[in-house]
Amino acid sequence: MTGLVIAIDGPSGSGKSTISRRLAADLGLAYLDTGAMYRAATWWCLDQGVPLADADAVAEAVATMPLEMVMDPASPAVRVGHTDVTAAIRSTEIATAVSAVATNLPVRAVLRDLQRGLIDVEANGGSSGGRGIVAEGRDITTVVAPDAHVRILLTASEHARLARRAREVHGVDDPGALAATADQVLRRDRDDSTVATFHVAADGVVTLDSSHLSLEETIQAAHRLVQEVLA
Ligand code: C5P
Repeated sequence: MTGLVIAIDGPSGSGKSTISRRLAADLGLAYLDTGAMYRAATWWCLDQGVPLADADAVAEAVATMPLEMVMDPASPAVRVGHTDVTAAIRSTEIATAVSAVATNLPVRAVLRDLQRGLIDVEANGGSSGGRGIVAEGRDITTVVAPDAHVRILLTASEHARLARRAREVHGVDDPGALAATADQVLRRDRDDSTVATFHVAADGVVTLDSSHLSLEETIQAAHRLVQEVLA
């Protein structure tokens, strides 16, 4: 492997997508949002009329999904066949349903192999010209790329995560917006944590707690971690 591989995991609302994207842009690396792949798989199953409760049918559908990830941190995109699903996969319908697909173990095996392939391409060439990649998700530091050069677990308190997601989705973080966001953040993390460990750092993974940091401070802290490893 010639390029730099940075793996970032964290729960919803931890800010990992924003931080990962910025880090990739600053360092000239590709950016892989693996959550978007699980969301695209969910979109594909719903589009094809596959019942999410039928685990075998879901696994079969995902194995033949014509997925294309555009990994430019300036404008990441997700295509399934000829359809650009970048915006559609952010809907509440997909966010509510995605854990059913992500807890399907054969689906995880398919997406894990695709993710490893994409990381390998960028570490040796691809859109980054071999400079490397920032890949983010729930199991990148532990399962997908445990040999990444830099491995970070981005955490934040439950309140900070709920408030961030509420501001993103509803524009405010008043009690009503917090309650409306709780399913997306807490229930989803509870379901997801049955198949991946992303609340506690594995051996060799550095924890970065952003509860009391601004976005810029968190990005600076992530840069320092990368520089320490490179030094
Ligand atoms: O990060 P994001 O909220 O877009 O992730 C969507 C969903 O994808 C998560 O709730 C989880 O179910 C799944 N996921 C996963 N493993 C990853 C990344 C995401 O199971 N590496």
